[in-house]
Amino acid sequence: MTSVLASAKALSKEACATGERPVLRERGQREVFCGLTGIIWLHRKIQDAFFLVVGSRTCAHLIQSAAGVMIFAEPRFATAILDERDLAGLADANEELDRVVGRLLERRPDIRMLFLVGSCPSEVIKLDLSRAAERLSVQHAPNVRILNYSGSGIETTFTQGEDACLASLVPQLPERTETTPQLLVAGALADIVEDQFRRIFTELGMTDVAFLPPRKSSDLPAVGPGTRVLLAQPFLTDTTARLQERGCEILTAAFPYGVEGTMAWLRTAADLWGVPRARFDEVVAPAAARARKALDAHKFRLVGKRVFFFPDSQLEIPLARFLHEELDMIPVEVGTPYLNQKQMAFDLAKLPAETLVSEGQDVERQLDRCREAKPDLIVCGLGLANPLEAEGFTTKWSIELLFTPVQGFEQAGDLAELFTRPLVRRTRLEV
Ligand code: SF4
Repeated sequence: MTSVLASAKALSKEACATGERPVLRERGQREVFCGLTGIIWLHRKIQDAFFLVVGSRTCAHLIQSAAGVMIFAEPRFATAILDERDLAGLADANEELDRVVGRLLERRPDIRMLFLVGSCPSEVIKLDLSRAAERLSVQHAPNVRILNYSGSGIETTFTQGEDACLASLVPQLPERTETTPQLLVAGALADIVEDQFRRIFTELGMTDVAFLPPRKSSDLPAVGPGTRVLLAQPFLTDTTARLQERGCEILTAAFPYGVEGTMAWLRTAADLWGVPRARFDEVVAPAAARARKALDAHKFRLVGKRVFFFPDSQLEIPLARFLHEELDMIPVEVGTPYLNQKQMAFDLAKLPAETLVSEGQDVERQLDRCREAKPDLIVCGLGLANPLEAEGFTTKWSIELLFTPVQGFEQAGDLAELFTRPLVRRTRLEV
């Protein structure tokens, strides 16, 4: 078995040729959730949208157990179940889908945007949801806009669901005719976090700021050549490609985790807008000081602890940067499903040289490396967490990092606490 350190050293030699960070690239069996999971946070964000998964009972169970059953509220997601007759090609699934959508929209006049979300079963039977969305849009215009994207688990990680959803929105964004600079923050943020950032941008004198996705489908931001895109989430590959096609410029920046990440993220935009450094410092100083204090309350539990990331959420590299730079943890291996070195440059540069960065997964080999490294904390998906706990390891479910508001200064302490909690729980269990 090759040791983690030996792997990293071998990779360093390879990297000298490219000038990029050495990366171990693996392809093999993976342990990840599918893109349907994104519906859990997206349905809370776009408040007049509905997500109709076209899938199997398995898909319905996944969504329902991940989101919890809403008994008192009208849900804003559901599954149109493909049964055996649909799967065997004995029934016309398109006819059935039209009927289900018609009944849903009649019963729920509050829906203004409907996403038909593809799944493994709908893709296996090659049900063309883009044509279905076009057909149904004509039928239900102008009251409801109907779009489609894939949330299937075929070749995806769970955060690609959000990427696919936002990418489907980009062609719907109105054309912006002004050429003056406009800032577009891309990536779903909890409303409370969005409000905090909006306040900071306003105090910095930056008023033409929009967010994607918006809270209401009627508030789709206009975009064009004056639009500069600041990514709030690191997994928006397709969305950024589509925004570039619309003439937008994608900024290379940090990601807004912790004090340093948030500061650098805001500064990228502020510098572009010509905000004087003294004014920037004056605006962010109080919130940054509060955040540092909040981090101090958790640091003593994390300092010197070794952390291992399995590839799952695509947040791994910025989070490892946060844990290392701001809380003095030691990232042993940071696995990520996909790596865009240019977009991750800020965070990658801050990881220690000994940290093994890996892209893709061969789960058995990675488990071997993890067991050999014996980390204090493992950040991974649910499928790996329970078996690893049973082996005596302490784990953190990476999906929680998407369900919880963690970006920005005010959330820095909560973000640190997400990593201290499993360590505290383990200590209590051992008493
Ligand atoms: S989309 Fe695929 S991976 Fe996801 S729940 Fe449905 S069947 Fe399972």
